[in-house]
Amino acid sequence: MKDKYEELKGQARKALENAYSPYSNIKIGAAVLGASGKIYTGANIENASFGATICAERTAIVKAVSEKEQNISAIAITGDISDYAFPCGICRQVMSEFMQKDALIFVSGNNREWKQFLLEELLPHSFDFYASKKED
Ligand code: ZN
Repeated sequence: MKDKYEELKGQARKALENAYSPYSNIKIGAAVLGASGKIYTGANIENASFGATICAERTAIVKAVSEKEQNISAIAITGDISDYAFPCGICRQVMSEFMQKDALIFVSGNNREWKQFLLEELLPHSFDFYASKKED
């Protein structure tokens, strides 16, 4: 599995080259590992109508889900930034919908050092539609 995670990190790094970010000039790349073992990549894609911008993480996740991979076991996120490329709040919520509870989240930046987290650490008490509908 360690080799698979290294491949995931490498593909995230490669994916940032496909970023379309003329407004922020920040390139972010992400790669997700599906339960099948297949990797899906994504980059941030900005838009003149800023609300239409999509993050690299969600690009990769929607690519996976649209290929029937709804059970993601890991994600790697990196960018051409000095800090670590932590996912935004919207991406964390989307991750909680499609990632396994024990899924690993790897983040890095230009220093190429990776930190590892669990989703629970980045999004404690996430919104769960079905849990919110359960009665006591
Ligand atoms: Zn995001």
